[in-house]
Amino acid sequence: MEKVVILGTGIAGCTAAIYSARANLNPLIISGPEDGGQLTLTTDVENFPGFPEGVQGPALVEMCKKQAERFGTRFKVDIATECKKVKNGFELILMGGEKIQTKTLIVSTGASARWLGIPSEEKYKGRGVTTCATCDGAFFKGKEVVVIGGGDSAMEESNFLTKFATKVTVIHRKDEFRASKIMQDRFFKNPKCKVIWDSEVIEILGDGKKVTGVKLKNTKNGKVSELKTDGVFLAIGHVPNTSIFKGMLNMNELGYLTTDRFMKTNIPGIFAAGDVQDTRYRQAITAAGTGCQAAMEAEKYLAEQE
Ligand code: NDP
Repeated sequence: MEKVVILGTGIAGCTAAIYSARANLNPLIISGPEDGGQLTLTTDVENFPGFPEGVQGPALVEMCKKQAERFGTRFKVDIATECKKVKNGFELILMGGEKIQTKTLIVSTGASARWLGIPSEEKYKGRGVTTCATCDGAFFKGKEVVVIGGGDSAMEESNFLTKFATKVTVIHRKDEFRASKIMQDRFFKNPKCKVIWDSEVIEILGDGKKVTGVKLKNTKNGKVSELKTDGVFLAIGHVPNTSIFKGMLNMNELGYLTTDRFMKTNIPGIFAAGDVQDTRYRQAITAAGTGCQAAMEAEKYLAEQE
């Protein structure tokens, strides 16, 4: 039986691995479907302490993985599809069929991009509709795109997309952004960035092969209009990856795991860290911090069991 298994290789999981490995607990970390987590989908991280010039998200998470590996963390590329309680611990069933038993579990499965959930979005996914500007921005060189959302991600993605696109129009359902001031300032200063307020995208328009536009509905007066565009970037937040724990671990109404301030879930021996349990901060640094806490609590729990 393993001592510590960590689900998710984002910065929370990697930090938990660094701490567990340095405590000689020989942790096993399972990647999940989005190896490296959300940092792999971003560009400049300017607010992680220790990097005065900023650091690229993928580079940061890669360094964390290397650091965890240096102290003996074992990495497995697979996806946990089931978790159940067994004597003295928990059993995970992986997509590859393998069963792994562990005395403690740290859930740092993060959150994944939210989609609008309309049929036309499904039809044009990967054909002009995407959730990752970093991954797909370069396909829109010389084109016009829209970004949906009003948070920091929408601001960041818009600015990034102006490297390629001739015009970036943000479509937001309210008449003000919730993004931080510094991100908004950058957005409004960028001559290629425009905004359409009080509007929701109700349909993605296309020619059957690729996106050609969006149908908008004004949230105040209900008026419907169309806007031509070559690409649609979604930046409307995230949903936590907690489906395998439904009915087992306590969650809030949005599906985020609930923990006490020691990162303990309702089941002794299972801890949670990072965005999977964070509805408030959702920063790389707070994810790393909770990863550290979860690992230290798992170590304490193991010591108490012995
Ligand atoms: P947020 O949850 O902050 O914002 C999501 C945005 O999408 C909101 O404006 C919301 O509208 C809108 N939205 C949600 N659902 C829908 C929908 N169905 N249709 C239309 N619009 C919708 O998510 P972010 O990803 O922007 O940010 C998450 C966290 O990551 C935040 O804490 C943020 O600060 C952080 N972050 C930090 C960055 C940085 O510092 N460099 C960069 C990117 C993110 P409404 O406002 O009406 O609710």
